[in-house]
Amino acid sequence: MKDPHQAADICTHLGDDYDRYLGAIVPPLFQNTLFTRKHENHGYSYTRINNPTIEILERKLAALEHAPEARVFASGIAAITATLSSLLKAGDHVLALKSAYYPVIGFLDTEMKKFGVEVTYLERFSRREVESSLRRNTKVFYLESPSSNIFRVLPLKEIASMAQECGAVTVLDNTWATPLYQKPLDLGIDYSIHSATKYLGGHSDVLGGVVIGSREGMDRLRNGPRASYGACMDPFAAWLLTRSLRTLEVRMERHSQSAQKVAHFLKSHPRVCRVYYPGLVSDEGNEMAEKQMTGFSGLLSFVPDGDHEAVYNMVKSLEVFEEGPSWGGFESVVNTPGLSQNLEQLEFQGIPKGLVRISIGLEDVNTIIGDLDRALRHMPK
Ligand SMILES: *Cc1c(COP(=O)(O)O)cnc(C)c1O
Repeated sequence: MKDPHQAADICTHLGDDYDRYLGAIVPPLFQNTLFTRKHENHGYSYTRINNPTIEILERKLAALEHAPEARVFASGIAAITATLSSLLKAGDHVLALKSAYYPVIGFLDTEMKKFGVEVTYLERFSRREVESSLRRNTKVFYLESPSSNIFRVLPLKEIASMAQECGAVTVLDNTWATPLYQKPLDLGIDYSIHSATKYLGGHSDVLGGVVIGSREGMDRLRNGPRASYGACMDPFAAWLLTRSLRTLEVRMERHSQSAQKVAHFLKSHPRVCRVYYPGLVSDEGNEMAEKQMTGFSGLLSFVPDGDHEAVYNMVKSLEVFEEGPSWGGFESVVNTPGLSQNLEQLEFQGIPKGLVRISIGLEDVNTIIGDLDRALRHMPK
């Protein structure tokens, strides 16, 4: 297929080059570190810098978000920390979202602080909040929308134009929405980042990260932090991710449809106090999400009507859901951020006590709902 533009066509066929690869229907895995100089090497030299298997994946990801270029990394957190390192220097100031993926806050508060970078954390990047926190040295707006755990939706177009007015760069963690449901560069965002470990991989068997943006920015990342920190992706991980992308759209349709049903089910359940899912019309982020996104993924949270022990036991009694911190895979997973002992984090990030986060997998949706219903009904009052 020549120059595919539709997401499903990009996922299935962009990067196909049958003439170059002996007619192989799947582009081969270049699991080599060195490309020798004594022979024609098409500009490849060393896999820490570039590799054909990695570049096929990068071209697909850039095309999916209508962007010039993408770079892939060893993990999502490697993509985020390399991007921040490439944009910041001593004396700079960052505005960052409080409810962002928590390890990023740890990175800003410890690693970046060591190098003299200052941070102000904001609740929702409203104009008032931004204007009262801006400084002459504000260089980066660090965003995540929908954000972790409580899925706060930020007005991305408005934030991007505020950043442009003051000459700051916008960086957005777009993992929740996937490149299918939100195209940050179309909204004026400069850098879009994903943990490929979640939906892009989708099978809980590969770690990876992605940064998507301008050619200049991506070249700076490739030759700068990615090369100097050695944060590059392994070719086998890139090959697995290219495999995973072929089913991204059909997987996301199922995750999304099932999550919508589960969210409705929980919303009307007598033992549930509150549901956090931007796909619900009643959610505070729904109106903005409808404007800037084209779909909703399968990760949501709810607060059961029970004390710490009741919620703990309810989660342990789930049979379909395995318990753990990751999400976006084929399997349903439950996690309990609201039972954390780190009360400082809960307060800071606005996570209510008792919050349970569920990643809706590809199992039969009635099996998933049945499991939740049984566990909730048996929860002591
Ligand atoms: C998991 C996650 C990350 C980190 O990705 P890794 O691949 O685990 O390094 C970053 N952002 C969000 C929103 C995540 O959920």
